Amino acid sequence: MQTKPVFEIPKDQKILILGPCSAESYEQLSSVCTQTMDLKPDLLRAGVWKPRTRPGSFEGKGEEALEWLIQIKKDFNIKVCTEVANQDHVEKCLKAGIDVLWVGARTTVNPFYVQEIADALKGTNVPVMIKNPLNPDLFLWLGAIERFYKAGLERIAAIHRGFSFYGNSIYRNVPRWQIPIELKRKLPEIQMIADVSHISGNPAHLQEIAQIAMDLNYDGLMVEVHPDPLQALSDSDQQVTPAFLKKFVLDQLIKRKTQSSNYLYNNKISEIRKEIDYIDKEIISLLAKRMQMADAIGIEKRNEEISIFQPERWAEIVSRLLVEAEKSNLSQEFIFSLTEAIHIESIQHQSAKMNNP
Ligand code: PEP
Ligand code: MN
Repeated sequence: MQTKPVFEIPKDQKILILGPCSAESYEQLSSVCTQTMDLKPDLLRAGVWKPRTRPGSFEGKGEEALEWLIQIKKDFNIKVCTEVANQDHVEKCLKAGIDVLWVGARTTVNPFYVQEIADALKGTNVPVMIKNPLNPDLFLWLGAIERFYKAGLERIAAIHRGFSFYGNSIYRNVPRWQIPIELKRKLPEIQMIADVSHISGNPAHLQEIAQIAMDLNYDGLMVEVHPDPLQALSDSDQQVTPAFLKKFVLDQLIKRKTQSSNYLYNNKISEIRKEIDYIDKEIISLLAKRMQMADAIGIEKRNEEISIFQPERWAEIVSRLLVEAEKSNLSQEFIFSLTEAIHIESIQHQSAKMNNP
């Protein structure tokens, strides 16, 4: 798969997609455009049909909002985008002349809808941005991108908007940065945009999330901006005014380079990287030794007809390693997931010895 950019921008610049969660009126959209003009956004975003979690909430202004977007496109000479969730939406957007479409998180989870949208776009060259699915499933995200690509669409970007969860988090949707990083490893040419508003869920975390996205070399940002966030008909908690966006988010961002021509820096980095590569090799070799021990245990347990999983031993390993983690200044979360991964592999080794002698 060789996707093409949705946005042609110079290498050292970032894509900026701004606009309200929902298109509420022509005046609201025009106020956003006027107030953000100096930021030169690449695209105005606004939801026309809103997928809401619970019935009874504002579900978008529908077709009349499409007309406002097209008027805005003419009046401000800006490209416009909106969310599509089925064939009917696509047909209406194509007819109206919307420049870019996006597929929302609640749609990416459903291959039937994704296919329907992709089929409705066959034969067009409309750029599509695909948000990650609600659940942290890399392959659903990748699969959705593949469905558009197979339908002949090449201009595809990915939007990372975080993942739903049950429980407590400081964010509305947990970022799980490793998933977009892995998507980018599989599709190096895809443009990756961080929807910082849906990840943070409130203005307090916007800058911090945007900075992480910049440091991870994302291609751009999507931010929900509203002239009067408290009065917004959807997502009022997370939208910010254009002035807030400028002062507290964009102006605070530290832009870092991806490479340097400084000889001393490059030498130092390659020295440290050699050391890291050596340590990684050692880790693999130690893990291989660790698994040989698991094989040996598997044989002993088989001979003695003892079950593989021993809860007390597992509890003892976890608490001992968490204490070690603390002493070594390693985070408890990291050591717990590492220990868990080693334990699963170890069980698989023992099980192979037990069941395939
Ligand atoms: C939105 O962008 O307003 C939206 C509904 O997004 P998501 O699909 O990420 O929830
Ligand atoms: Mn929204």
